[in-house]
Amino acid sequence: MNIIFLGPPGAGKGTQSKLLEERYGLVQISTGDMLRAEVARGSETGQQAKSLMETGRLVPDDLIIKMLESRIAQPDCAKGFILDGFPRTTGQAEALDAMLKASNKHIDVVLFLDVDEDILADRISGRFTCAKCGATYNEVSNPPKQDGVCDSCGSHEFKRRADDKRETVVERLKEYRKLTAPILPFYEKTGRLHAINGMLPTSEVTAQIETVMAGQ
Ligand code: ADP
Ligand code: ADP
Ligand code: ZN
Repeated sequence: MNIIFLGPPGAGKGTQSKLLEERYGLVQISTGDMLRAEVARGSETGQQAKSLMETGRLVPDDLIIKMLESRIAQPDCAKGFILDGFPRTTGQAEALDAMLKASNKHIDVVLFLDVDEDILADRISGRFTCAKCGATYNEVSNPPKQDGVCDSCGSHEFKRRADDKRETVVERLKEYRKLTAPILPFYEKTGRLHAINGMLPTSEVTAQIETVMAGQ
């Protein structure tokens, strides 16, 4: 089973992908996480992406498509994958279809996490992650069970993303509206798009997703 998560920044794509990954034995592919790893390594890709990411702009299609193509060719993706943060432009959606067709794969489900813009800024500015295992938390809606201790791995170290500042969120939302929202009809046309109310608590969002998955 191959899945795409669509939705604006802060909609809950990463949170839900991680849950699905465990439940259905799929591999989560987050292009944002991959790019942040490249930036941290100081690779050529990282150098090209860094300033764009810091200002909330999308990185160029050719760079991201190349990165994604080599990732889904890896053997662990054969059991099925969850795309989190890709595709984000019509060019990426078309390139994805072409690369999947060439390797006899296809996308089964597109899950669109629908969240009103006015709550995204608060979600994003309250976001932090475990520095060791990457589990995502929120100061208000989703704190660790024990203050300062990661639920998943017990680590005491957390970090925040450089682009989770309020000024940058405005730019990211603009990019989403201009470049990413227009790909929704592309998937709607083929009957693969399922809209999920992403404004409910995390467990209720998961329950809606499970209902869609049960129908597959
Ligand atoms: P995305 O990957 O779409 O940017 P995340 O999964 O990182 O989104 O979630 C953004 C922030 O919102 C995180 O702090 C996360 O803990 C929180 N969050 C995720 N899902 C929900 C939800 N259903 N209700 C409230 N907060 C949520
Ligand atoms: P979000 O929480 O906004 O969904 P991501 O972690 O998916 O964040 O992405 C962070 C940044 O990485 C984006 O603002 C963009 O600069 C870059 N990025 C991630 N995925 C893509 C993509 N598919 N195409 C272009 N840029 C991307
Ligand atoms: Zn952890």
